[in-house]
Amino acid sequence: MFVDSHAHLDGKQFDPDREQVIARAREAGVETIVAIGNGDGPGTFDCGIQLAAKYDFMYATVGIHPHEAKLASDADFDELAQLATRPKVIAWGEIGLDYFYEHSPRDVQRQAFVRQMQLASRAKLPIVIHCRPSNNSEDAWEDCLHLIEQHWQPTGLGGILHCFTGTWAYAKRALDVGFMISFAGNVTFPKAQQIRDAAKQVPLDRMLIETDSPYLAPIPHRGKRNEPAFVKETAQQIGELHALSLEEIGRRTTENFHRFFSLPQKCNSV
Ligand SMILES: [Zn+2]
Ligand SMILES: [Zn+2]
Repeated sequence: MFVDSHAHLDGKQFDPDREQVIARAREAGVETIVAIGNGDGPGTFDCGIQLAAKYDFMYATVGIHPHEAKLASDADFDELAQLATRPKVIAWGEIGLDYFYEHSPRDVQRQAFVRQMQLASRAKLPIVIHCRPSNNSEDAWEDCLHLIEQHWQPTGLGGILHCFTGTWAYAKRALDVGFMISFAGNVTFPKAQQIRDAAKQVPLDRMLIETDSPYLAPIPHRGKRNEPAFVKETAQQIGELHALSLEEIGRRTTENFHRFFSLPQKCNSV
């Protein structure tokens, strides 16, 4: 059994066959999916909540992605604070910094990030972090970890570094402030040695797996639309790094998920 700790199933890429995609995930042993609630920004912040209301094996997040940070008004932040109190919302995110695409100016991204950490702290929710530096740089990692250590560490609420792509040094800093590290399909890419090196060093009780569907389909599905059933490929790769079976990685990361979020584990899943 597996938990896909991060999927964007609201995406229009799934409009033609969302039901089948979800059914395939269940058949593949995916017992829980976290429906990330960024949507397309303002006006769509309840997209994860809607999915979680429909499927008992889904949970939701809310938040403004760094891409859309520049679109967020005071009213949007108020709305997020309201939505954060809804049932099945287990985390605030994804939030953070994206200096690669830089769809929003960096200072605006940092402001939205800090503001959402304050709101998440009031809502007593852990945060889901998106961090992508500009090419051949660690700029966003430095800023992101610094802001977390400054504004989030004191809350003790922890979080998840989603789709981890950094070096072990950044994973270690996040682990030290109570974070889980989540690996996505790009851990299977031939050039992703840095991700595999980090995945080898992250303790198995601090690790999660995810798809980030519809993005980043793992090998052998690379280039196609990603879907939660493919989380197995990530488990397989992590298993190879730790000399453990795919099932064992599934079991441990599933336990980690339930422990981190203090959620009951289903005994006879799927
Ligand atoms: Zn992301
Ligand atoms: Zn995502």
